[in-house]
Amino acid sequence: MNADIRALAELLADAENAVVLTGAGISTESGIPDFRSAGGLWETYDPMKVASMNTFMDDPSLFWRFHRPRIDMLGSVEPNAAHRAVAALQQRGIVKALITQNIDRLHSRAGSDPVIEVHGSLDRGYCLRCSTAVSMDELCARADSAEDGVPRCTCGFQMKSGVVLFGEQMPMEAIEAAYDAAERADVMLVIGSSLQVTPVSQLPGVVLSRGGRLAILTESETDYDHRCTVRIHEKAGPTMDAVLEALGD
Ligand code: NAD
Repeated sequence: MNADIRALAELLADAENAVVLTGAGISTESGIPDFRSAGGLWETYDPMKVASMNTFMDDPSLFWRFHRPRIDMLGSVEPNAAHRAVAALQQRGIVKALITQNIDRLHSRAGSDPVIEVHGSLDRGYCLRCSTAVSMDELCARADSAEDGVPRCTCGFQMKSGVVLFGEQMPMEAIEAAYDAAERADVMLVIGSSLQVTPVSQLPGVVLSRGGRLAILTESETDYDHRCTVRIHEKAGPTMDAVLEALGD
């Protein structure tokens, strides 16, 4: 067995409070492009622009032209081996908390519970003016029947999904839960994140500053690479399968 896999399995087995932090890279093997890899969304769109509060407010039709096909795409994908491995580790009590930046709900669909979703998720549709909430099916039906593709509330204002936009306030409850988990963690395993987006990019630093250890399983470089106990530049799915196997029953 590969020494890195064994080291990661041992780190998790010895931890009292292991926490997993995931990013878009854990879902690429399910067919969802991440932001920064080759072929990632960044090459086609500037997500900071289209997935922003400014675009939602100033040009809702452009916003929904980007957002609507992504909702369909996310509805047609399945959790992969890495999501399933994280859920198994959580169910076995080896992983005590799961924090994700992803909005795709694949962790929940793989059986993880609870999931701390720091960037919201595609759960429902909301009106920012009158706080009315509708199901995702209803949100999509309203978008599809509108001439400009923009779903509207009965009050007339454009609606959005539960995904947090650039320039929008983060969900405070989830952010507090994420910091709490990081403060208690003696091990943090990061899977598939470039650790470029704040405030999540600060969480590994919180763990290290309290004497915890860090493992990163992400293909590209990150700013924390030199501070890791275990650093693996491989695909998340097969690696996490091998880690589960190394941990045994
Ligand atoms: P990112 O795109 O910045 O980084 C992803 C990282 O994962 C990269 O470093 C890449 O090398 C690595 N990676 C890609 N495929 C991998 C694989 N199979 N195995 C291991 N590593 C792999 O993603 P981020 O750090 O999550 O930040 C981007 C932001 O984009 C987040 O806020 C997230 O909410 C959002 N986002 C979410 C989704 C989703 O929900 N699936 C998709 C795209 C973007």
